[in-house]
Amino acid sequence: MDNPKIFSIQHFCIHDGPGIRSTVFFKGCPLRCVWCQNPESWKKEMEIAFRAHRCLSCGQCAEACPQGLKLPENRPSEACSLCLACVQACPAEALIAMGEACTEADILARLRPEYPNFEATGGGVTFSGGEAGMFPGFLSGLAASLKKEGVHLAMETCGMFDSKNPDTKTLLQHLDLLLFDVKIFDTDLHKRLCGTGNYPIKANLREAAEAMNSGKGPLVWPRLPLVPDITDGEENLSEWAEFLSDLGFREITLLPFHDHGNSKRLWLSEMPKSLPVIRTPDAEDLLRAGSIFEKYGMKAHEALE
Ligand code: SF4
Ligand code: SF4
Repeated sequence: MDNPKIFSIQHFCIHDGPGIRSTVFFKGCPLRCVWCQNPESWKKEMEIAFRAHRCLSCGQCAEACPQGLKLPENRPSEACSLCLACVQACPAEALIAMGEACTEADILARLRPEYPNFEATGGGVTFSGGEAGMFPGFLSGLAASLKKEGVHLAMETCGMFDSKNPDTKTLLQHLDLLLFDVKIFDTDLHKRLCGTGNYPIKANLREAAEAMNSGKGPLVWPRLPLVPDITDGEENLSEWAEFLSDLGFREITLLPFHDHGNSKRLWLSEMPKSLPVIRTPDAEDLLRAGSIFEKYGMKAHEALE
């Protein structure tokens, strides 16, 4: 299998685990949540995004295209060889490549200059996505190298990983922290709004909690994106609170929905453009959600932007 593509490495992150962290975003996700704000993470493959508001209509992209495609807007993926000639020719950065092929050595070279920040603040590296757990072979190797260099390691997951894969087991052994996102408890509703059933998510969460509780796995920290009228219903929150509390969790982080990524759907050619209108949760929504977790003996924290 080719190395996974990454769509960003962000430094100085303070919400993806303890201390100052560098977060590596891998491209590819098994879920299709209707509220997703990182649609560029869905496909594993590199994509070319077109930001129409920057386009000068100069035609240089079409001139550069060896396939003779009518650019910039008409870019059928079957005909495009992803040679990136159009991206390089565009003087306005209206066309941009999303997804970069990186080796383990490339990623390590970009992370090593940040080690002093990690040491000074108790930070480290967080694998994110998309779903980084889709690439256990690559990730377990990268995690082993980072661990050898004394780096604290976290991974954000939607829970859809293959826990039976030996590389996944190795990866989990290297992690210090697993930030485990849960969304919709009802399986049919999860299928409708996130694209798949949620049985593997619940099974993996249970397994990860048991490993943590027996001292054989990383610290697991549950999080829930608070999406008004989708994940924030009393029934959904109560069901998750009961499930998590039974597994021994006493804390959860609520991730308030924001709509910062809506425009990115317009940039990507094979993306549903219609989005449900979703408001940003307010303080009252957060208090109400927190009080539901409290009933089950859990404290809910709010993630800050
Ligand atoms: S990536 Fe290459 S083949 Fe694809 S549209 Fe751009 S120039 Fe044409
Ligand atoms: S090269 Fe860039 S600015 Fe010019 S037409 Fe193509 S996308 Fe627009």
